[in-house]
Amino acid sequence: MTQTSKPPGGSVLMIVKIALVMLAVEIIIMLGFYWFGMTLANWKFALLDASLLAVIVATIAYFAFVRPKDRQIRTMMATLEEARLKAENLARFDALTGVLSRRAVLGALDTEVERAKRYGSALACLMLDLDRFKRINDTYGHQFGDKVLHRIAQVITEHCRTNDHLGRYGGEEFLIVLPETRIDGAIMFAERVRLAVAETCLDRNEERITLSIGVAEWRNGDGSSHRLIAEADRALLEAKAAGRNHVVANQLV
Ligand code: GH3
Ligand code: MG
Ligand code: MG
Repeated sequence: MTQTSKPPGGSVLMIVKIALVMLAVEIIIMLGFYWFGMTLANWKFALLDASLLAVIVATIAYFAFVRPKDRQIRTMMATLEEARLKAENLARFDALTGVLSRRAVLGALDTEVERAKRYGSALACLMLDLDRFKRINDTYGHQFGDKVLHRIAQVITEHCRTNDHLGRYGGEEFLIVLPETRIDGAIMFAERVRLAVAETCLDRNEERITLSIGVAEWRNGDGSSHRLIAEADRALLEAKAAGRNHVVANQLV
């Protein structure tokens, strides 16, 4: 964004400028008086008077024009910053579940793949899909379905470490990026999440939902983030085919 307003610090400079101009004008007038025969004592007194007048005018100009404008600029800058942060959050987080948006989690995956390539560190990713979620919508309505998505996202979040990236990949699909994690650790993590979700009560009637998880590990070679997702997706399909509520792992070679 282009910033066209002057920064607030410019006001001091403006006061100095106004004072100098006033002083210059007064000096010219005084020189005129001196030319027409004023005494030295009178001239000194007039110069002091002119300086005082310059300071007074500059102070009045500051409080009348510069300060209100400064305040206006500061308020405008704060409003713009607030709007920028709001727009950034809207793009970064999924409005329904509060986890990362699809774009943000894919960005995080790209970054982690680059890091793994550079430092040879481990990296795994999980693709999760709620089982028979359509039934929830059809039975209880979409609003309840939305609440379930939000609740399940919370349960998954509780199991993530600070450096993990959880995002909503699609309607009822989530993607988790696990930096510094090998396949064994990723499978253990996926099992913990699967169990936690299966044990979560969705309403007073003890309604529950399960999810299926595909796990893939990135290996140093030609594995791109695109391939890693494809592997996790394939594993997820196998988990569905195995009867749902399953964790299946694939490895890139
Ligand atoms: P499967 O076990 O094979 O995954 O079955 P499923 O019913 O979960 O899969 P399917 O793809 O048939 O249905 C997914 C449903 O998720 C359909 C769609 O209406 C619902 N859905 C997607 N996004 C949202 C959402 O934001 N809110 C709600 N309430 N439902 C959503
Ligand atoms: Mg589903
Ligand atoms: Mg799905």
